[in-house]
Amino acid sequence: MSIILHLDFNSFFASVEQQANPFLRNKAIAVGGKSGGAGTGSTGGRAPLLARTVVTTASREAKALGIKTAMGSMEAMRILPSLIMIQGDPQKYSEITKRFLNIMRRYSDAVEQFSTDEAFADITQAAGDYFGATALALQIKEDIARECGPYCTVSIGIAPNKLIAKLAGESRKPDGLTVVPPADVINFIDSQPFSAFCGIGSKTEEKLTELGISDVKSLRRAPLSLLRSHFKNQGDWLYLAARGAGDDQVSDKVEDPKSIGHSYTFPYDLELEAELKTNLLALSDKVAFRMRRDNFYATQVSAFVRHARFPGVAGPSSAGAGVGAQHKIKDGISDGLEIYKNAWEIINKIRDKEMPIRLLGVSVSGLIKSPLPSRLFKKDQKTHRALEALDEIQNKFGSDSWRRAATLKTVFLERASGWHYDHEI
Ligand SMILES: [Mg+2]
Repeated sequence: MSIILHLDFNSFFASVEQQANPFLRNKAIAVGGKSGGAGTGSTGGRAPLLARTVVTTASREAKALGIKTAMGSMEAMRILPSLIMIQGDPQKYSEITKRFLNIMRRYSDAVEQFSTDEAFADITQAAGDYFGATALALQIKEDIARECGPYCTVSIGIAPNKLIAKLAGESRKPDGLTVVPPADVINFIDSQPFSAFCGIGSKTEEKLTELGISDVKSLRRAPLSLLRSHFKNQGDWLYLAARGAGDDQVSDKVEDPKSIGHSYTFPYDLELEAELKTNLLALSDKVAFRMRRDNFYATQVSAFVRHARFPGVAGPSSAGAGVGAQHKIKDGISDGLEIYKNAWEIINKIRDKEMPIRLLGVSVSGLIKSPLPSRLFKKDQKTHRALEALDEIQNKFGSDSWRRAATLKTVFLERASGWHYDHEI
């Protein structure tokens, strides 16, 4: 049986900022979407953009005072006027990501990055048993404190599979270490609410409640046939999860992308909301196609806009500041329309409505490889079959062979570079 370790940074972006700048330590700070443009720090009259950003991470001090992820920065400042809002610095964070992945690779050949600040490692060999695993986890924590800085604390969970390891890690924050050996798995999961499970989102929980299933114990009593009839293939997953069973394959394959994204710089400025929407939908469909082709579903959607600095003047020199933000989605998605809905919600919140838009970007991350070919978490089999048929056409004839009618007029002329979320596989 495998021993799986899950590691997750606490208040990642905020901790990295506090590590980098002593002035921010022990203070309520929140990191907002990155503002692009030439320099960092000074936004040169673009301050109103920051007012529209969303809190991506709050420091533990800010969390304690009611600041939450995904809160609009205006709302956050209203709740806590002393809150220090800072713009995110993706380069800084990706450096720390590199460092912690390197640390984990010292102890395991199989390290799987799950998001910017989260990864799994198969430590069966290195640890030997759960006692050894505990010692190894403490060693990793020490390495991280030394090489990433003591302000970057992590929560670690150790269990026989990825589902339980993540659940364990998240049960104690910050700086937690939770070990759940096989004999303790059932007791442990019975103490956890549905909302703590990665893979049980609010929609699934609602449906379970409707069926009179309100906790893990009662889920375990539900027959497989009932779960299958209400949740399709997710029913199998729920049945197994209630028994503490889950995937223990830690995939270190580099070809698995951390995120899938598309962004485009338009040859002219987009001013109409309808135009923004159709282009965003087209981008979302492109992302979704690649996800389904490779059997991924996503638990995070990110969206990004760059405003035109000089309306009507094309070319990169006229590109103004950019803003981006993320949405977490607990029920994994792989449908372009779902991706679009989340992306639009983000864009509409963060964009400067008075400014035309030059670049749009959508990306998904928190990717989970579906154990069943792209069917998991599909609520609507009819939609699914239609998508499958369309994917087939796309596989055969290339990615421009079909489009939603709404996006027919959309023409992408240039693929923008320089957006760090965007990479093709
Ligand atoms: Mg984290």
